[in-house]
Amino acid sequence: MSAAAPFICDYDVAIIGAGPAGAACALALRASGLRVALLDKAQFPRDKVCGDAIPGHALKALRQLDPAFAEALWQLQPLDAVRQSRLVAPNGDSLWMQWKLPSFNSPRETFDTALLELVRLHTPTTILENTILKGLHVAAECVHLHLAEGAELTCQLVIGCDGANSVVRRQLLPLPLDRAHHCAGVRAYFENIKGAEAGLTEYFFTKDYLQGYLWIFPVGQGRYNVGLGMLSETVARHKVDLKQVLPELLARHPALAGRFGQARQLGAIQGFGLPLGGGRTVPLSGARFLLCGDAASLIDPIQGHGIDTAMQSGMLAAGQVLACFGKRDFSAAFLRKYDQQVAHRISRKLAKSYRLMRFLSNKPWLVNAGVRLARVPGLKPWVQKAIG
Ligand SMILES: Cc1cc2nc3c(=O)[nH]c(=O)nc-3n(C[C@H](O)[C@H](O)[C@H](O)COP(=O)(O)OP(=O)(O)OC[C@H]3O[C@@H](n4cnc5c(N)ncnc54)[C@H](O)[C@@H]3O)c2cc1C
Repeated sequence: MSAAAPFICDYDVAIIGAGPAGAACALALRASGLRVALLDKAQFPRDKVCGDAIPGHALKALRQLDPAFAEALWQLQPLDAVRQSRLVAPNGDSLWMQWKLPSFNSPRETFDTALLELVRLHTPTTILENTILKGLHVAAECVHLHLAEGAELTCQLVIGCDGANSVVRRQLLPLPLDRAHHCAGVRAYFENIKGAEAGLTEYFFTKDYLQGYLWIFPVGQGRYNVGLGMLSETVARHKVDLKQVLPELLARHPALAGRFGQARQLGAIQGFGLPLGGGRTVPLSGARFLLCGDAASLIDPIQGHGIDTAMQSGMLAAGQVLACFGKRDFSAAFLRKYDQQVAHRISRKLAKSYRLMRFLSNKPWLVNAGVRLARVPGLKPWVQKAIG
């Protein structure tokens, strides 16, 4: 009796989502020789609700792949790039600081499109835009991806980089929403804000909502990304409507009152979820699949940045993909090595951040004291290290 012919999948690897996690994963697989597909439900350029602050660690991660990639994105920064940051404590005191790694702000519509362009230019990846993953199931020899309008694709390994509402995670590792490790965020673009500077990012803390902050981030051409993030536990407990609270705070926060009188809002206030890292250990992989970025809940609980951890995890996933194909092992046990890598390289730091966020959350006096303390010569680096 002849052996059955091996099942040939459409692709070796399918990456779902072409945001920072998916694009970084595709870039890291550029020389793998594998048949990689990168699917996204959107057509780029596409918007993404975000604060638009590109963390220095995102560029550092990209530089590890190829310095030219980081250089290409660095070109996106406006001429009047961010030079310093100002943290405003609940009592109105300010702390001026500079981040250790150079960073800049860029609307995600621009940044994510440029990142995807790198994939287009430097990899043989098949990019499938306007392609919505509706569901999937893992079979013995492949993963079946069910797309909109009844279409189907198959692959050997699937990488879930499909963001905070990940279909891959919901179908393969369903968990109820953990509001203690989830933030809600809203943002709108403004121009003509009094006292705002093109080279300055501002963070405002209020005594009522310490599990989050309000931000004003310049994004170039006289425009500012203004937003508010808050722990979902607080939002649910106090029935907070962030879209209502943001304009209220802009009008009455002691350090903001009067600054928005002449400001022009460009477009509606939009909201989205932030799955925070540093929570209980949950699996990030299983037989024939891995999760990265927001799909794996890797956002920093104190600052709310996740572009860097999305890219770092996308690159770690690529390393695991190579190991899987090297050993022809796609089992849950083998893929668990990826979880260990993420725990070691990313999640440990996020857990520290989470503990600090919870510790400070009902102590506005301590945030005030921290800001005051940071003014003592020599102590600023310690305070800065604590917040990241
Ligand atoms: C209000 C707010 C402010 C933030 N501010 C910052 C900040 O200033 N700096 C920072 O570093 N981080 C910030 N973050 C976090 C940051 O936006 C995320 O951590 C980051 O985008 C995660 O990248 P990702 O690639 O995992 O997911 P995403 O960027 O969400 O990309 C996921 C991609 O998957 C696609 N997709 C989703 N579902 C499907 C599907 N079913 N089929 C096909 N494609 C699909 C989407 O179209 C999208 O392109 C903020 C988040 C919010 C909500």
